[in-house]
Amino acid sequence: FSRIKEGLKKTRDGFFKNVKKLLSFDRLDENTLEEIEELLILSDMGSETSQEVISALRERTHKGRNPTEVLKDVLTEILDIPYEQKTGKPYVISVVGVNGTGKTTTIGKLSGLYSQQGKRVVLAACDTFRAAAVEQLRVWSDRSGVDFISQGQGADSAAVAFDAINHAVSKGKDVVIIDTAGRLHTKSNLMEELKKVHRVIGKAVQGAPHEVLLVIDATTGQNGLIQAAKFKEAVNVTGIVLTKLDGTAKGGIIFAIVKELGIPVKYIGVGEKIDDLKPFKPSEFVEALLS
Ligand code: GDP
Repeated sequence: FSRIKEGLKKTRDGFFKNVKKLLSFDRLDENTLEEIEELLILSDMGSETSQEVISALRERTHKGRNPTEVLKDVLTEILDIPYEQKTGKPYVISVVGVNGTGKTTTIGKLSGLYSQQGKRVVLAACDTFRAAAVEQLRVWSDRSGVDFISQGQGADSAAVAFDAINHAVSKGKDVVIIDTAGRLHTKSNLMEELKKVHRVIGKAVQGAPHEVLLVIDATTGQNGLIQAAKFKEAVNVTGIVLTKLDGTAKGGIIFAIVKELGIPVKYIGVGEKIDDLKPFKPSEFVEALLS
């Protein structure tokens, strides 16, 4: 919790600190509500979501409830959307997103998290066009002591995924994490490639991919949201990883993302180190933001 709080320092010390101050006033009049709405919009929450929060604040505080507690409830409700948790062995996770969002780093951290839980992990380097990404992933796999499957530069990414899954099945591994390509300039090919990888994975293991994590860089604000909508259109995204929350004061973007995409956040990135990826819990996040 303290690490999450520290990671949210910029967002907490900026807009949300002022929101908290305004909420501590005796009377929550219309002017104060308007000021709060402006702060929420400035935090990148989006105008629609901000308005919804303000309406809820207005209504629920009328019943005499503590404004800060009401805000915590409303924000938690926005983030807390239900999802189905699939299972499988191997459990196959496909990680998608635009280059630069922190995809490789997230996969490294994720393999660390699973290893810590005693799970045996295989990493698949399916972004076969970026030699540097493959090497970076290899370094992460060495660091967390997990298996690493790659082929030469330009190899077919679906073939690498297939290899990794066969390796996992034959060795009885628990989790396969797949790093996919994220070249933005060839978008339609990229989406076709992702679909192909997922088709092949689905044929190799029933129900796979069990999780499709979309990595979004919190510092890119609305742009990140536009990218995300494109991925959502092409593949069945089951969860969001919001990275670099430590690098922005506009962490309110998380509410806009969940609200607009209707996809739950599964992990947040709050730094560059291996243990800086945190499983996401809505109430804990809101508590860290407003405490
Ligand atoms: P990729 O191109 O999407 O694979 O991106 P990388 O994994 O190479 O990450 C790009 C940069 O973002 C690297 O310098 C990472 O260390 C950094 N990064 C990734 N996640 C986080 C995070 O949660 N916080 C911070 N501060 N930096 C991050």
